[in-house]
Amino acid sequence: MMAVENESRTVVVIGAGPAGAIASALLKRKGHDVLVLERQRFPRFSIGESLLSHCLDFIEEAGMLDAIENAGFQIKHGAAFAWGERSTDIDFRDGFTAGKGSTFQVERGKFDKILADEAERQGVEIRYEQQVVAGDFNASHPQLRVKRVNDGEEYLINCSFVLDASGYGRVLPRLLDLERPSDFPARKALFTHVEDHIDSPAFNRERILITTHPQLRDVWYWTIPFSNGRTSIGVVADAKRFEGLGHDPEVCLRELIQQAPSLNSILTNAIWDTPVSSLGGYSANVKQLHGPGYALLGNAAEFLDPVFSSGVTIAMRSASMAAEVLHRQLSGEAVDWQSQFAQPLKRGVDTFRAYVEGWYDGSFQDVIFFENADPHIRRMISSILAGYAWDQSNPYVAEPKRRLKVLAQLCSPTEQGPL
Ligand code: FAD
Repeated sequence: MMAVENESRTVVVIGAGPAGAIASALLKRKGHDVLVLERQRFPRFSIGESLLSHCLDFIEEAGMLDAIENAGFQIKHGAAFAWGERSTDIDFRDGFTAGKGSTFQVERGKFDKILADEAERQGVEIRYEQQVVAGDFNASHPQLRVKRVNDGEEYLINCSFVLDASGYGRVLPRLLDLERPSDFPARKALFTHVEDHIDSPAFNRERILITTHPQLRDVWYWTIPFSNGRTSIGVVADAKRFEGLGHDPEVCLRELIQQAPSLNSILTNAIWDTPVSSLGGYSANVKQLHGPGYALLGNAAEFLDPVFSSGVTIAMRSASMAAEVLHRQLSGEAVDWQSQFAQPLKRGVDTFRAYVEGWYDGSFQDVIFFENADPHIRRMISSILAGYAWDQSNPYVAEPKRRLKVLAQLCSPTEQGPL
């Protein structure tokens, strides 16, 4: 092990993805010393390309909004849903909660690099290709062991506090035995990017398109157009649904798209030029979001499901909330991470959870595809889908399960099938 003499920092952030970039910049802006350790070199591919409006609030808070707005990303005003001949459109600009309406669809390699570069521009030190491999949280100050990826050399860093923003790396949940299985069944996604050549006048590039499989309501597809004529496409299903479709992920994805005629016709001229990737078992949870000397952000803590594109927004919201509590702690205030961070964060996550569950059991899909929706209720739903899942003045946030149940009963057609 290489000894770096008594390296000692105030805050160490593990991972320079959206959670790490936002948290580190916010702490730096409040005057704290922050070091970010990132295992990879940026830009690097990441999935999660459709943003919600609310995440722009945190990008703005971190002083990065101009950089994102000027990057040429595809503007997004909402979400379109399709099932057989049914379709519906949710416009985030028509919402119940005061806040941002429009947002973006982003190539994550480029997006994440802009956020990290903006954090660096504000004075955050980011060390790339440095992997956190061990941590000791038993002493009065945490100590991390870090491996340099290029030569395998290891060194130690002492600090006052660690924010784990390592995403699917889940560094501290693994090292500190914090992992708890998700309540969701093991689902799997197959996805790729295509040169889309979409010429259907019905297709709106300023929306994510969510298509439900005509017969299997728990199987759904995303279509996320970018500003450069390319589109991210993917399908999500219970892992068991892929059995019997063969081992070649491209054959599987093409077969499943053919089973959804409306989507198949939109993608009819697409040029498939990128290998299809597969990702499974991504839903995850933890026993606790914080402990002595650490807190968990974004996907390092919990990941629900991709269906409402909530991942980046939850990651940034957790980063903003943790940065605020940590700032007060470092300033000498007594703080309570459970009541000031974990519980309020979880309230919004649980709102998303209720609608994700409703999506897969079909009840929220009945609401989405209901043709005579009350415009006032629709605005409340629109705000949740835009990411404002923490606004307790929205009745569908305050009591998500009960409200959704009642609404779904009103919207449920008798044995509805695709028209
Ligand atoms: P990440 O973006 O994963 O960043 C973590 C960083 O930590 C990485 O750069 C990694 O290299 C680094 N790291 C890991 N281990 C270590 C280590 N040991 N040492 C140092 N660094 C380390 N979200 C949306 O908002 N919109 C979507 O449309 C969407 N679609 C999705 C589709 C699918 C199929 C899936 C699975 C997820 C989707 N998500 C979506 C979720 C989204 O991918 C994540 O929620 C989001 O990337 C979380 O950000 P993060 O900052 O927590 O972690």
